[in-house]
Amino acid sequence: MTMSFDGFRRLFSFISIALLLRTPSTIADDSVLSRFQQYLQINTAHPSPNYRQAADFILSQAKSLSLESRTIEFVENKPLILLKWTGKNPDLPSILLNSHTDVVTVEPHKWSYPPFDAAIDPQNGNIYARGSQDMKCVGLQYLEAIRKLKDSKFEPVRTIYISFVPDEEIGGLDGAKEFANSKMFDEMNVGIVLDEGLASPEDKYRLFYAERRAMALVIKATGAPGHGAKLYDNTAMENLLKSIESVRRFRASQFDLVKAGLKAEGEVVSVNMAFLKAGTPSPTGFVMNLQPSEAQAGFDIRVPPTADDPASLERRIAEEWAPASRNMSFELRQFKQKNGKPLMTAHDSSNPWWSLIEEAIIKAKGKIGKPEIFPASTDARYFRMKGVPAIGFSPMANTPILLHDHNEFLNKEEYLKGIEVYESILKAFSSFVEAKNGKDSLRDEL
Ligand SMILES: [Zn+2]
Repeated sequence: MTMSFDGFRRLFSFISIALLLRTPSTIADDSVLSRFQQYLQINTAHPSPNYRQAADFILSQAKSLSLESRTIEFVENKPLILLKWTGKNPDLPSILLNSHTDVVTVEPHKWSYPPFDAAIDPQNGNIYARGSQDMKCVGLQYLEAIRKLKDSKFEPVRTIYISFVPDEEIGGLDGAKEFANSKMFDEMNVGIVLDEGLASPEDKYRLFYAERRAMALVIKATGAPGHGAKLYDNTAMENLLKSIESVRRFRASQFDLVKAGLKAEGEVVSVNMAFLKAGTPSPTGFVMNLQPSEAQAGFDIRVPPTADDPASLERRIAEEWAPASRNMSFELRQFKQKNGKPLMTAHDSSNPWWSLIEEAIIKAKGKIGKPEIFPASTDARYFRMKGVPAIGFSPMANTPILLHDHNEFLNKEEYLKGIEVYESILKAFSSFVEAKNGKDSLRDEL
């Protein structure tokens, strides 16, 4: 194709105008967003997360920021990356910024954008990718905030650690749990941990001070087998159905409290059926003229740490959901609490970190809702179990909650705003020097 001189001139002036319109800040934003996209494009979805590539990427970022770095494999091929920005007073308890590198699996055909392309919708600026909310955004926002602080020649008083851990989405046993229980963690003398929170569809950010305890309940019914045509009492199926009906009533009563606005999601007990197992398999499906002698159902249960009497739930299970009088038995797997005490981080004036984070967010022109209990589990529990205060926070306001959902996205403006918020928080946290006897008295005041 050829072009006239006039054509060239018009094209040249168009390019010049386009370049003039790009202010230094938009060019900087572009590189910030492109680093976020690069991280999102690494497929760290279970069941085979590419941890190596994620580690290489984080290490390259650390190098560009002149942060010290270590790669630790508590379990082979599951690298944990620990970065360090040493403060002017490294004897003071440090700050730990934690995020996980893994993401949950995807059903690509149900997405409008490929989940590992990290495409930005040109119309609205939404960045679509698995991990855009949970929680690659937070991991990179920590680093971008540090980049801004370093550019402005800021020097922290307290040491800041940044950890990128594997396996949170499958329970964190080979990641954060190993880390929190390691000698290395003790030596880091961590005074406060920041970990993930949730998006907020409103204009207020959400701060989490605790989380609900996860339990797995399996109830099993037995009964005499019989012909499919016969009506008789105490079949396994009938016994199980009665229990399911009872569980369902309890579930509805809890849900009603949320719907009526009397309690937040994290303040009620949730019970959801995860599986049903019954029937006698045949080559084409199930034997239809036989009533089976066994039937099982599994439930995911979440209990808030504020529940008055955790033992009352076990009584309810034994008496109503799986009573021996109906030939039923149950198995309850539950997450242990430290010394039987609920794991909660103080969220009032007794915890200076709480006041500091609230002030820092407001200073960065963010709004905050009232303190919340995280409805599910996060790695924060492992740090709380060590007696270290932990705050769950992901700066995503005006954003639908799409973690683990199809078409997970975060708007680019929200992402950039979050970096400013972290910049403000890190400034406040790392400059905070009020300490009693040279040591924070906070560690045990959860
Ligand atoms: Zn997460």
